[in-house]
Amino acid sequence: MATTTKRDYYDVLEVSKTASAEEIKKAYRKKAIQYHPDKNPGNKTAEEKFKEAAEAYEVLSDENKRSRYDQFGHAGLGGAAGGGYSGGMTMEDIFSHFGDIFGEGFGGGFSSFGGFHSGRGKQVNRGSDLRVKVKLTLKEIATGIEKKIKVKKYISCPHCKGSGAENDQSYSTCSTCRGKGHVTQTMNSIFGQMQTSAVCPNCHGEGKTITKKCTHCYGEGIVKDEEVITINIPAGVEEGMQLSVRERGNAARRGGINGDLLVVIEEELHPELIRDQQDIIYNLILTFPQAALGSTVEVPTLDGKAKIKIEPGTQPGKVLRLKNKGLPSINRYGTGDLLINVVVYVPESLTKEQKEVLSKMENAPNFQPPESIKEKIFGKFRNIFD
Ligand SMILES: [Zn+2]
Ligand SMILES: [Zn+2]
Repeated sequence: MATTTKRDYYDVLEVSKTASAEEIKKAYRKKAIQYHPDKNPGNKTAEEKFKEAAEAYEVLSDENKRSRYDQFGHAGLGGAAGGGYSGGMTMEDIFSHFGDIFGEGFGGGFSSFGGFHSGRGKQVNRGSDLRVKVKLTLKEIATGIEKKIKVKKYISCPHCKGSGAENDQSYSTCSTCRGKGHVTQTMNSIFGQMQTSAVCPNCHGEGKTITKKCTHCYGEGIVKDEEVITINIPAGVEEGMQLSVRERGNAARRGGINGDLLVVIEEELHPELIRDQQDIIYNLILTFPQAALGSTVEVPTLDGKAKIKIEPGTQPGKVLRLKNKGLPSINRYGTGDLLINVVVYVPESLTKEQKEVLSKMENAPNFQPPESIKEKIFGKFRNIFD
């Protein structure tokens, strides 16, 4: 997906990064009216601008999406998650989501525009979004993973193919619109008085009404079922992050567009490794002889064990860094490190012989901590305590 060529959403709406919800709504309304297809018939550039503004508004008007966008940019919005993000927002989507931005009763004024109806002036329903949680290990987060998940959802009724009618004979012509699917209205709009054609309120644009409902779905056009959905989860996701897979949510009543599938990320705790954003922390416990004499030890990493060398005289509190052994960024800006935090274990009980040996060393000059050690161990905390 060409996420890199996308314009900044704040630039698109010409608002500041700190704009309030009200300012964003106002800015979008301005753009939507400026580039509205009714005002710019056949103008492709206007249509693109119209879509671009809607996409920006979709993200910036949603607190959750906006904060993800602020943090991660376009990539934070789940663009890599298989289903594709709003890059391909259709006119149908825009009007079904944001039609109300044009004001009460104004939606009908645009209904003459064929683009957001399914060709015949029929209203487009949208199914509800479906939210699922996916639990991932740190290892899966490090590489990204394809997950198959079973979801319970509404699907289009297989008996009536979503129509809600028992069979082809189960219809009669709508008496309100006499089968035309639309009614003519005169209304006041921001463009002045308009003669408009509105969707028939009785048959919702179908031109016909159902006389015998489908016995399988009771006329709803949808039934509950299970579906196995494959989701590509990008590397570097975080707890609580939400990826949207377009149109894999619930089917709409009696035809229309499916809702989205929203995948919420959960992190499984690793028994030994701790995540700190892109870095991974491991607490390595050394014995006193290992720290004093030096040693080679094994440490766990996200892709198996690694051997590391402990220099003689290694102090507790020392942090060893394995470059690029952490997690990748979801925006693909580099990879974190594995930070090995050294802890030295002091024996909690000693034998008589050990006590004697240690007592002899107690006053040895090289066992006395030099002044410089304070800087080495505590220096890194100075900024915190100052
Ligand atoms: Zn049915
Ligand atoms: Zn009708």
